Amino acid sequence: MNIPFFDYKYTFISEEDDLLELIRDAGRRGAFIQQSDLENFEQELARFTGSAFAVGVANATDGLRMALMAGGIGPGDEVIFCSHTMVATASAIYFTGARPVPVEAGPDHLLDPVKAEAAITSRTRAILPTQLNGRTADMDAIAGFARKYGIQIYEDAAQALGSRFKGQMAGTFGEAACISFYPAKLLGCLGDGGAVLCRSEDIYQKLLLLRDHGRSSADGGDVERWGFNSRLDNIQASVLLYRLKKVDSIIERRRQVARIYRTRLANLEELVLPPGPDGDDEHFDVFQNYEIEAKRRDGLKDHLAQNGVGTLIQWGGKPVHQFRKLGFTQDLPATDRLFKHMLMLPMNMSIGDEELEYICDLIQDFYRS
Ligand SMILES: *Cc1c(COP(=O)(O)O)cnc(C)c1O
Repeated sequence: MNIPFFDYKYTFISEEDDLLELIRDAGRRGAFIQQSDLENFEQELARFTGSAFAVGVANATDGLRMALMAGGIGPGDEVIFCSHTMVATASAIYFTGARPVPVEAGPDHLLDPVKAEAAITSRTRAILPTQLNGRTADMDAIAGFARKYGIQIYEDAAQALGSRFKGQMAGTFGEAACISFYPAKLLGCLGDGGAVLCRSEDIYQKLLLLRDHGRSSADGGDVERWGFNSRLDNIQASVLLYRLKKVDSIIERRRQVARIYRTRLANLEELVLPPGPDGDDEHFDVFQNYEIEAKRRDGLKDHLAQNGVGTLIQWGGKPVHQFRKLGFTQDLPATDRLFKHMLMLPMNMSIGDEELEYICDLIQDFYRS
């Protein structure tokens, strides 16, 4: 068998006729930038997540930076984030002029609230958990100390559309959050795309300006402030609106894949599996990724590759604080240890049950021999 870690072609070919029809329809209307498809998608996204507002942007990284700027984060501020994230989380903070402060990941691979609280200084203005792998952090713990120290919460929910903690959706716990529509994400488009969710009218209005050169959308509107060009293309929005209608079944399939991995691999003491989809009542995980910890990780990765199964070590194998060229000096030994063992197994919509059986058999064989 040949099972790629992620099959980009499949995302297009499996819906090819519908997608071409959407593109044709938008094209014939000349609807390319900030048209009704974008507005409709933003409304549906806000409704799906239970957020007051959703703003389409060019990508999640831009969205996060603009969210922080709209919330007033800037030079002199420190923002705490979890080192097990994409470098994009840190660069979004960095380009506001604030200092990104990485902290340890906990046993569930998400921001460790105890270590985060210990990193708070008089300059800390915000905490920015990454809702990694489709799981939402313990937001009670984070909100608890955010309130205590008077700091804001933002979320990198790039990987967490539809994920919930105690029934509340990722992306709705703080001032604002970003979501990514990169093609390999749970809700992907045909290129780059992202959104910001926010709860205040004030931040919403600022985001509308920031994404479009600071220009007011009112008739004859003036330039109100410095801004960027970071709009979500209308054709992408049209594709996303179409796919958002199927998102519940996408999430259900991903949870089913996680269930199969858990059933077939739970006996192996050499592995630490992610919490199961039915593990507790507080978390509803959407499994953007299936990230395990494995003894003899590199051997396992080779064994799977030799048998045609693609796997991936997230972020090229490095947490953000290990990018010393970016100026980080923190020592985060728990995260360093995690990165020696973490590996992502295929988790996507193209994988079938037989292929999952094959992968699990290979893993069983590896540890039995
Ligand atoms: C994908 C991802 C991003 C970046 O998203 P873009 O839309 O490519 O900018 C940021 N953070 C995390 C955790 C991601 O997984």
